[in-house]
Amino acid sequence: MQKTPYSPAELLALDKQHVWHPYASVHSDVPVFPVARCEGVEIVLATGERLIDGMASWWSAIHGYNHPTLNAALTEQMADMSHVMFGGLTHQPAVHLSKLLVDITPGDLSRVFFSDSGSVAVEVALKMALQFWQAQGQANKQRILSFRNGYHGDTFAAMSVCDPVTGMHRLFEGVLAKQLFAPAPPAGFSEALPPNALDDVEQLLASHHEELAAVIIEPIVQGAGGMRFYSPEFLAGLHALCRKYNVLFIADEIATGLGRTGKWFACEHAGISPDILCLGKTLTAGYITLAATLCNDTIADIICSGDAGCFMHGPTYMGNPLACAVAARNIEMLQQSDWQREVARISAQLSAGLAPCRSLPGVVDVRVLGAIGVIELAEPVDMAQIEPAFVEAGIWLRPFGKLVYMMPPYIITDAQIEKLTSATYSVLQGQLRHR
Ligand SMILES: *Cc1c(COP(=O)(O)O)cnc(C)c1O
Repeated sequence: MQKTPYSPAELLALDKQHVWHPYASVHSDVPVFPVARCEGVEIVLATGERLIDGMASWWSAIHGYNHPTLNAALTEQMADMSHVMFGGLTHQPAVHLSKLLVDITPGDLSRVFFSDSGSVAVEVALKMALQFWQAQGQANKQRILSFRNGYHGDTFAAMSVCDPVTGMHRLFEGVLAKQLFAPAPPAGFSEALPPNALDDVEQLLASHHEELAAVIIEPIVQGAGGMRFYSPEFLAGLHALCRKYNVLFIADEIATGLGRTGKWFACEHAGISPDILCLGKTLTAGYITLAATLCNDTIADIICSGDAGCFMHGPTYMGNPLACAVAARNIEMLQQSDWQREVARISAQLSAGLAPCRSLPGVVDVRVLGAIGVIELAEPVDMAQIEPAFVEAGIWLRPFGKLVYMMPPYIITDAQIEKLTSATYSVLQGQLRHR
C-alpha cells in the first residue's frame, strides 16, 4: 500500500480546500507545513527539512516522538484490545493508570475519571463541583470563580471560565454561563507577593461564596491565556481562602502536570492539594488524546449520595486501553528517570540562551520557569512572516499574539537547545527589524 498518495504540493492544496486547522481562518495566508514523520526532538517535513521542536506538540510530547518504549506500550496493548466499552467492564490499563495517578498526585486524591481531552476534563471537574453541592441541598452553589488570563479549554463550560476577552465571551454571550472573574495573579514566580495581592479575590469570595461551587485556576503557570508565572504564596493563599469560604478548589494542571515546572505537579510548589485535579496534554506524552479528572473519596461519596445517585457523565471512549497503556508507561518512564535534573538543565540552558533576546527592540520580557521559556513582545507577531522564518532556521515554534515561547521535550540535548534559542534570537532580530 502506498504510504501517501499525495505529493507535498498536492497535500497542501487539498488541505487548503478541505481542512480546518485550530483557530485558523480558511482564508488565512499563514502557511501550514506538511509533516512526514517525527523522531526524538525533530519534526521531519515532507519536503525534507528537519526542525527542532520547541513546542512538544502543544506541550505534550515530553519524551520526544517515536519513543521505542512508548511505541511498545501501544503495540503490546493493541494485541489484546484497542478499545472496549468502560460501562460495566474494566481492564488492566485503566486500573493500573488510575493507581499510578493516585500514587503520584498530591494529597488525598483517590478517584479517577477518564475522558478524551483537557476541555472535557474541565467540564467533568465543573460538573463534579456542582453535583457535590447539589447532593448536599445547596443547588444555589452553581457559579465558578476564575481568573483573568486563565485558559481552561474550548468547550462551552470550559470556555465560560477562560479569560472573558481572549476567550471571546462576547461572541457567545447568550449561551455562556456567567462566571466570576478575579484579576490575574500578580506576575512573578519568585518575586515577593504584594501585601494586598489576595484582597480582590477574597472580596469576591466574601460576597459570592453562597452561590459559588468552586474556584478554578492553573497552578503557578497561566498557559494559553498569557504564559504568566505567579507566586506559590498566591496559590497557597487562594487555597486557604477556598477553605475559609467553603468553596471547592479545582487545579487545572493540564499544562503543568508531569514535571513541566520542575515538580510533578505545580501545586507542590505551594504545598497544597486540590479538591479536584484536571490532567491532560502530557498524560500520554503526546501519543493519544486522554485526560483525567481526580477527586477525593469524600467528594465522590457525596456526589453519589445525591438525587442522581451517580456522577452524570460517561464518554464513549472512556478509559481507552491504548491511551491508558501509553499513559501508564509514560509515568513509569518518569518514575524511573531523573527528569527533575533534565528539567533543571533545560531551565538553565533556556535562561542563558534566551537572555540576549532581552536587548532586542520590541521585547518587553524574557522569563523562564522549569522547562518553559517565554519571550514577550510589545506587538503581536506576524504569523505569515515568522512561521516560514522559523522553519527556514530549522526550528518549530508556534507563537500566539505577543508571546513567542518554547516548551521542548525533556529529552532535548544541550546542543539542540542552543540551536533552538540562537535561531529564535536570529529570527526575532530579523522580524523586529522590519517594524
Ligand atoms: C490545553 C489546556 C486545556 C484544554 O485541553 P484540550 O485537550 O485542548 O481540550 C485546558 N486547560 C489548560 C490549562 C490547558 O493548557
